[in-house]
Amino acid sequence: MSGEPFDLVVVGGGPGGYVCAIRAAQLGLRVACVDRREGLGGTCLNVGCIPSKALLHASHLFEQARHGLARFGVRVGEPVLDLEATMAYKRKVVEDLTRGIAFLFRKNGVTHVRGEGRIAAPDRVEVTTPEGETRTLATRRVVIATGSVPATLPDIPVDEKSIVSSTGALDFPRVPERLLVVGAGYIGLELGTVWRRFGARVTVVEYLDRILPGLDGEVARLMHRLLGRQGLEFLLGHRVRAVETRDGALEAVVAPRDGGAERRIACDAVLVAVGRRPYTEGLGLAALGIETDARGFVPVDGHFRTRVPGILAIGDVIGGPMLAHKAEEEGMAVAEFLAGGHGHVDYDVIPAVVFTRPEVASVGRTEEALREAGIPYRVGRFPFSANSRARTTLETEGFVKILAEEGTDRVLGCHMVGPEVGVLIQEVATAMAFGATSEDIARICHPHPTLEEAVREAALAAWSKPIHV
Ligand code: FAD
Ligand code: NAD
Repeated sequence: MSGEPFDLVVVGGGPGGYVCAIRAAQLGLRVACVDRREGLGGTCLNVGCIPSKALLHASHLFEQARHGLARFGVRVGEPVLDLEATMAYKRKVVEDLTRGIAFLFRKNGVTHVRGEGRIAAPDRVEVTTPEGETRTLATRRVVIATGSVPATLPDIPVDEKSIVSSTGALDFPRVPERLLVVGAGYIGLELGTVWRRFGARVTVVEYLDRILPGLDGEVARLMHRLLGRQGLEFLLGHRVRAVETRDGALEAVVAPRDGGAERRIACDAVLVAVGRRPYTEGLGLAALGIETDARGFVPVDGHFRTRVPGILAIGDVIGGPMLAHKAEEEGMAVAEFLAGGHGHVDYDVIPAVVFTRPEVASVGRTEEALREAGIPYRVGRFPFSANSRARTTLETEGFVKILAEEGTDRVLGCHMVGPEVGVLIQEVATAMAFGATSEDIARICHPHPTLEEAVREAALAAWSKPIHV
């Protein structure tokens, strides 16, 4: 241990950790950020948000070239997928962005330490470098931002070749002919979509009776129908009991959840996408007296403090929505607390987007949650089939649904399926953050012809009456 102690050592360089480190440095603290990966950016940049969105984009273009252009009068020959080039493009995007964070660290004076971090004491982090050396960082505070890893199923061991987690499914060397996906959540639908567009026959096995648990039920039902029409086959209320190898090919043994005859599904690859679990291995939490909860999350109070003074935690490792922007918000808030200010995360306004086509976007409470809480609400709904811009691009599937509190008209939630709804949702999130009513949104002039007008019309429908439907 040498020199002045750091004010803050952040363990984990994902969207929670790196944002926390940069913000704390901007606010005048002396900061180090430890991550074991070669590239900064954590799960999100290396094996999550960014590579998956690159493949979603490339596969969308491929599908457009195959089936989507002729209806606009644009004729092209049969496109050819050069998967190696697609993967090279994806890698370049990831590399550029991870290098970008290293640049931001230098610009803001954050010390980047590569290696495995262990919190030896509240004022000491030991780092084992890739070369096997140990470096000790003295510090006043520690933030745990070690994120999450894919959850696994005991009877389906992942080898990241033919039985893969999301990490392997971002890197298939060739398009599997038949892909079996376990879990119809974010990853199952996004990566299932990618490989279907590239030519795989995709079957999604989901334990529950619905897809996208946690999101609005009406949204999930519509997406089930639309993705089914695109060629994803769903087996709801089923689980994969085992995956066996027969004559060099895989066979999944799929059982109805509530009993009944099993069936065998032949496939070339299996993607296990049944959620993610918090990651704290090797951090030394037990020795410090920090007990994780039953699901492995690090418990924190409203200021992100663990039970050990000087040690805080943020991001996927503390639970809540496992989303990059939620981790970033918490990183900002912690940095502000530690620099003597007042951090704040508005957990009622965390948008969520599923980047299929059409996209799904959501913010605030669902109808199910409002009903369960006994909160009376009105629904304003507007279909994209009645939006002029959506008609020009022939993307008319879906709707915007705004939920406003009966009596006060305050917007409590918004759920969308449709083109670019991952962008449209932010207008409603911003409005909600300011406590807006549906009338407030409806009375704001929206440019024409845009998809944004569908948001205004849904707000009009919640407050009074829509014009165009
Ligand atoms: P992480 O990003 O997991 O970062 C933690 C980092 O800490 C990792 O780099 C890890 O190696 C490092 N680490 C752990 N332990 C140690 C240790 N002891 N020493 C040193 N380093 C350590 N979210 C979205 O909002 N939008 C999306 O579109 C989206 N797409 C996704 C797609 C996929 C395929 C996946 C898997 C996830 C996606 N997510 C998305 C979720 C998002 O990636 C996570 O919510 C986010 O990365 C969590 O950030 P974090 O900082 O908490 O942790
Ligand atoms: P998920 O929680 O979204 O979905 C997992 C699905 O698997 C659920 O529908 C669950 O019911 C099902 N399931 C669980 N056990 C099962 C079993 N034994 N058999 C069949 N089905 C089973 O998890 P995910 O898709 O793995 O993604 C992990 C997290 O990563 C997401 O929750 C999300 O927070 C984040 N993520 C976000 C994005 C995005 O923001 N666009 C994209 C990808 C991942």
